[in-house]
Amino acid sequence: MKPAPLAYARATDIGHALALWREAGPDARLIAGGQSLIAGLNLRLSDVPVVIDITRIESLRGIEEAGTVLRIGALTTHDDIARSALVAQHAPAMAQAAPLIAHAAIRTRGTIGGSLAYADPAAEWPAVVLALEGTIIAASSKGERRIRAEDFFLGLFETALQPFEMIVAVEIPKAAPGERHVVKELARRSGDYAMVGLVARFAGARSRLAFFGVGDTPVLAKGAMTALGSGVEAASAALDGDLDPPDDLQASGAMKRHLAKVLLKRALAEAAG
Ligand SMILES: Cc1cc2nc3c(=O)[nH]c(=O)nc-3n(C[C@H](O)[C@H](O)[C@H](O)COP(=O)(O)OP(=O)(O)OC[C@H]3O[C@@H](n4cnc5c(N)ncnc54)[C@H](O)[C@@H]3O)c2cc1C
Repeated sequence: MKPAPLAYARATDIGHALALWREAGPDARLIAGGQSLIAGLNLRLSDVPVVIDITRIESLRGIEEAGTVLRIGALTTHDDIARSALVAQHAPAMAQAAPLIAHAAIRTRGTIGGSLAYADPAAEWPAVVLALEGTIIAASSKGERRIRAEDFFLGLFETALQPFEMIVAVEIPKAAPGERHVVKELARRSGDYAMVGLVARFAGARSRLAFFGVGDTPVLAKGAMTALGSGVEAASAALDGDLDPPDDLQASGAMKRHLAKVLLKRALAEAAG
């Protein structure tokens, strides 16, 4: 299918994008990689009168160290992240997750900002930023706002972004010495969205387990995080209280909870090894 007729505007900088958006109204959409937006437009899932192209805004692109964090521009692609030496060194979970996203062609266009704004509960980046205690930086005509990942994902495809507010970057705390990251997922075919996935940061009392594909948002498994010190079986059993996945086209909720336990055991074994 083709999208319904719509207008197109190209932004030259962040201020210009925000001004174009205000002018076009709240139903207009920013377009970054277009890998989710265009599919939705083609299927006519939403009525979008104007798309605002932000892909020429160079200040939104790139990965840099900023003190204790990595700052990753919203337009940085999944592939840029997969290839980054800085990411491999300071945020191993991101380096592990990036190659698991879709297929090579999608990874070279899809962006981290687009993925976080889209907030697909089966996507990798939302769970990664939740596990690594990332911060999303959003810009509007009122200036910049910092939103903790824990406060960002509100529901199915729903975020804390306000109307006319765009993601400009995400900040990820650099891994501490001795910290281990493990990303595990189960998908029916390579490149498919995962049935269930896990991003684990093993860091003593600061350990975090974020699951994806198990609810309306990525889920922090707080019971299992607390039980980690009591051993594999205790942490696995705690997932019964942490996760209540709905049935979907891929698997029943009970199957997903079982698979989440399998992933946790695999992650713990890998971290221990
Ligand atoms: C076949 C296929 C398989 C896929 N498999 C996976 C997968 O396994 N895992 C996975 O995580 N993803 C998967 N994706 C999605 C892919 O990762 C997309 O790249 C991503 O979801 C959206 O990024 P984008 O840059 O393409 O955003 P776009 O499609 O351009 O935009 C998506 C939404 O975000 C908004 N938006 C974009 N940028 C910003 C911004 N800076 N600020 C505010 N709003 C913004 C847009 O207005 C739109 O509403 C798949 C996509 C396809 C087509």
